[in-house]
Amino acid sequence: MTTAVPGERGRLTVLRAAWLFDGTSSLLIRDPVVMIEDSTILGVSSGGKAPEHGTVVDLPGATLLPGLVDTHVHLAFDASADPVASLARRQDGEVMEAMARAGQAALRGGVTTIRDLGDRGYLSLGLRGRPDLPTIVAAGPPITTPSGHCHYLGGTAEPTTEGVRAAVREHAARGVDVIKIMASGGNLTPGSRQDLAQFPPEVLRAAVDEAHRLGLPVTAHAHAVAAIADAVAAGVDGLEHVTFWTEDGVDAPAYLIQLIADQRIVVGATVGIVPVPGAAPPPAVAARMPGIIASTRRLYEAGAPMVAGTDAGIAPVKPHDAVRHAPAMLCQLGLSQAEALRAITAGAAGVCGLGHRKGRIAPGFDADILAVDGDPIADPDALHRIRAVYARGIVVPSAGT
Ligand SMILES: [Zn+2]
Repeated sequence: MTTAVPGERGRLTVLRAAWLFDGTSSLLIRDPVVMIEDSTILGVSSGGKAPEHGTVVDLPGATLLPGLVDTHVHLAFDASADPVASLARRQDGEVMEAMARAGQAALRGGVTTIRDLGDRGYLSLGLRGRPDLPTIVAAGPPITTPSGHCHYLGGTAEPTTEGVRAAVREHAARGVDVIKIMASGGNLTPGSRQDLAQFPPEVLRAAVDEAHRLGLPVTAHAHAVAAIADAVAAGVDGLEHVTFWTEDGVDAPAYLIQLIADQRIVVGATVGIVPVPGAAPPPAVAARMPGIIASTRRLYEAGAPMVAGTDAGIAPVKPHDAVRHAPAMLCQLGLSQAEALRAITAGAAGVCGLGHRKGRIAPGFDADILAVDGDPIADPDALHRIRAVYARGIVVPSAGT
């Protein structure tokens, strides 16, 4: 527990609650007092005694957690039944407004940091730094083949080493935080094949090499076994989905599971589904779900770093605050509830490159704080009973009751 001396002119807010989950520990701290100066956490102590200055906010019966972090969202998709068609109908100005609304919905649901892994025309970059939105880490349009997965987002590249190197350089010049590359086809793009790699292995390697040369991490959308194997060989930092999708099922080779774990490649598990009456996953996904859960569990047991990337926006069951629902599925993969909470706070913040200032309630970290009713380790549903959300020290309007 550390408390620094408050600054001269800072606006001081003091939060008092029943418990605190700090983002890294498995234990809750009782009767926490969190001091916030402007946008930063100044000090954390226990015992319930508030300092004599500052505005005290009492949250009896509540647990304070770090604001949640979702490592895979699409602000440009509106979580409707056909988000691709709905995006196609909108001009950029309208899309920006819808993206801002999506970000505000995320904030109200306790999500204070998001990594957007696929927008249209780099629009998410223009939303970074807005005080009314979560902190945004942005990939711009994902790099894909001319008719490949999500080609309509505008990130197409010729499937040659020079083609992808040029695409990576363009993304870097536009100022993206991370490179997202579509190593296989995907469900949202009819005509693309989830069971096949989109790029030759040497082309994927060139893309990763160019990104790393420019100081950018790479995460690859990869369903097909060949796409996963090629992405691992190419040296990606992260893999999204990682379903080991074959033409008629799921087949996860043991050597590849081990390689992902050994190389410490981050597995972005696509988890976090909001129950919507009547909504069912696409039949091809539903049929493979038991196999996907089993292979993802093997990845976790082998020691692969794992976070929750909800793919928020792509369907009605995936609204932009879906990550609160991820722990339920992470626990099916073998994580304890405390590990699941770490995966959607400190773990995810590290994957977003923000481990030094997000995902923890500790002095010096950004004052991104979620207050929920009850104990979210003993009672996972507590995460859905939001009392208050603070984003960089500012209370989020109409979050909680
Ligand atoms: Zn996605």
